[in-house]
Amino acid sequence: MNDVFNFSAGPAMLPHDVMVWAKDEFLNWRDSGSSVMEVSHRGKDFREVAAEAEQDLRDLLAVPDNYHVLFTHGGGRGQFAAVPLNLSAADQTSLHLVTGSWSKGAVSEASKFNHAKVVGEVAEKDGLRYVPKPAFDESMADAAYYHFCPNETVDGIEFNWLPESGDVPLVADMSSTILSRPLNIKDYGVIYAGAQKNIGPSGLSVVIVRDDLVGKARQETPSIFDYALLAESDSMYNTPPTFSWYLAGLVFKWLKGQGGLSVIDKRNEEKANLLYAEINNTGFYRSNVHPDNRSRMNVPFQLANPELDNLFLEQAEQAGLMALKGHRFVGGMRASIYNAMPINGVVALVEFMQEFERTHG
Ligand SMILES: *Cc1c(COP(=O)(O)O)cnc(C)c1O
Repeated sequence: MNDVFNFSAGPAMLPHDVMVWAKDEFLNWRDSGSSVMEVSHRGKDFREVAAEAEQDLRDLLAVPDNYHVLFTHGGGRGQFAAVPLNLSAADQTSLHLVTGSWSKGAVSEASKFNHAKVVGEVAEKDGLRYVPKPAFDESMADAAYYHFCPNETVDGIEFNWLPESGDVPLVADMSSTILSRPLNIKDYGVIYAGAQKNIGPSGLSVVIVRDDLVGKARQETPSIFDYALLAESDSMYNTPPTFSWYLAGLVFKWLKGQGGLSVIDKRNEEKANLLYAEINNTGFYRSNVHPDNRSRMNVPFQLANPELDNLFLEQAEQAGLMALKGHRFVGGMRASIYNAMPINGVVALVEFMQEFERTHG
């Protein structure tokens, strides 16, 4: 059991300590005789947990006071719709940098609600995919917002710079990268993330939104997506995903206990460097992403001989290395190494890759 490492892209593994804490109080939470998932979200005990989780998240990310933090439903895709409804009128434009399948998905959803315009798209040179840096020009200045995805979970493409957007508010889908490094929240109008990659269990999404962007939702916006209603009600306009919220709170405590995001940042760097060093080593494995844009969280890689894919995956499972199959759009392998993946897991994977190459190279 102890030697199994789960590289799933999402829902993904959670920190071992967090799972033990949750297990210990699963049946009898705070001596109430009930589980946390069996109590009212409006009760004093749950409200304390909810407020503490919000405060811990604010501390971790240094969220300024003029930003709301919302705990809501509908995952990342829910926000693909909530963002245009809250931030744009039907005749307004939204700008999009398309760097992979999720930011592309955001464009098609936004097109239902506004004029979604792609201003830059992932490109390829010498077989390597990279993120272009589109110039900002005056024709873009009256757009309602500028959407991008700093880490593409499926494609394994990440970039750590901000698109040039003038005064147009930046909206970032951080579903698979939030909490992996410190951020300067002030640079963003909205940050959102489905929880199931780097925050907690599925069912919860977190939205961090600047004051001035709240209260502008279109009249027809479903109430559960209206940022103003969510903010006024402390994210309890309707029943929130209480268990996921509680568990996310434990993850935030764990992150603080590890030393916060600058410590986590270094650890993520170290983990990714180990894995990419192995991928780059001999040509037996390879990556099709430009070195500048290789994700630290989701690491897709291919075997030079794809006929060995199935054997690789089979033997990896036998070695306790689970869920390494690449996304169905991409094929090959993908190792997701979010915050919860210990460095030992990456070391075990690298050793397995070396052994597999030795015996099949
Ligand atoms: C997983 C993911 C989504 C979709 O999340 P759901 O919660 O399944 O709606 C959107 N964006 C990114 C970057 C993701 O990784």
